[in-house]
Amino acid sequence: MTLRVAELFRSLQGEGPSAGTPAHFLRLQGCDVGCRWCDTKYTWDASHGRDCTIAEAFGELRALGAAPLLVVTGGEPLTRPGVDRLLTAALGQWPRVEVETSGSAPPPLEHARLHYMWSPKLPGVTEHWAGTWAHAARFMGDPRTTVKIVVAEGDDSAALEQIRAHELPRDRVMLMPEGLTDAAVRARALTLAELCLREGLRLSPRLHVWLWGAKRGV
Ligand code: SF4
Repeated sequence: MTLRVAELFRSLQGEGPSAGTPAHFLRLQGCDVGCRWCDTKYTWDASHGRDCTIAEAFGELRALGAAPLLVVTGGEPLTRPGVDRLLTAALGQWPRVEVETSGSAPPPLEHARLHYMWSPKLPGVTEHWAGTWAHAARFMGDPRTTVKIVVAEGDDSAALEQIRAHELPRDRVMLMPEGLTDAAVRARALTLAELCLREGLRLSPRLHVWLWGAKRGV
């Protein structure tokens, strides 16, 4: 089977609980969620990108150097055909596999070394926001899932409302500042840091923006 791939690269994981870890990134092409602040709009059109087999993708990633972590991202990887086979194959080759997903499709499998970074959307981010919460119980039923909510300016209350409505365990929730520049991320992070301290939530960095700005392949 072939995957529709947007890009393959090696970098440091910039977000979530593994931030700072050297990682291979397999970014699948295609997303229908339509977030207004999306930083990977080039992945939306499923006809863009290129076809490659799972073996070819893994071979290209390995040729970039070693990493203990594979991050499967997008686009929206869980709505892409064959993602279950991709994840099964990846678990045979990497000690840890992370999937970055909006949650618009349910998790296709559970495994002791497979970790979902579930990033549901807040009202106002996209008209499809409610669908990204539709499988909340499935994601939270896997103890390895971390919730990562991108919080733009003005959305702090909306984030807390959703956390309460879905009774999310706060030690599994990370708030991540929205922003495409170091200055914007830093300003948002300072506000979110106060919110995290007050509410018992965690703060996710955006290391790749801090280090390299709004660039592809990092
Ligand atoms: S789900 Fe991810 S890739 Fe899709 S629009 Fe939202 S931020 Fe962009």
